[in-house]
Amino acid sequence: MGIGKIMKDAATRLFRKPSTIGYPLKPERVEVPDSYRGAIDFDPKLCVGCMLCVRFCPSGAITVADKRRIAFDLARCIYCGQCAEVCPRKAIKLTKEFELIYESIESFKQQ
Ligand code: SF4
Ligand code: SF4
Repeated sequence: MGIGKIMKDAATRLFRKPSTIGYPLKPERVEVPDSYRGAIDFDPKLCVGCMLCVRFCPSGAITVADKRRIAFDLARCIYCGQCAEVCPRKAIKLTKEFELIYESIESFKQQ
């Protein structure tokens, strides 16, 4: 690519709408697609303790807390969605939430 073409390309791009946003400095909400796999939403009322999610979680983010109760360590979660897929009760859902801020590593652990 010659210098003339590079300069022309650069000049054209200067006036184009940016493809990225200044996240997190811009206040607008980032839209994610419906298939996005974000934060886990677990409803313990639906859970029957079958432990399928524990067995299928590839990162060990779900463990047995005590008899028929599971616990999540979201610091280990890779948001693959396996747990939501295998859960027969739809007790686990992956939401579109991606702003996950915790004050300590312990806060990632949830039951
Ligand atoms: S989304 Fe994947 S890594 Fe995260 S808890 Fe579920 S199965 Fe485990
Ligand atoms: S797969 Fe669903 S019902 Fe079974 S233990 Fe996990 S969350 Fe509970």
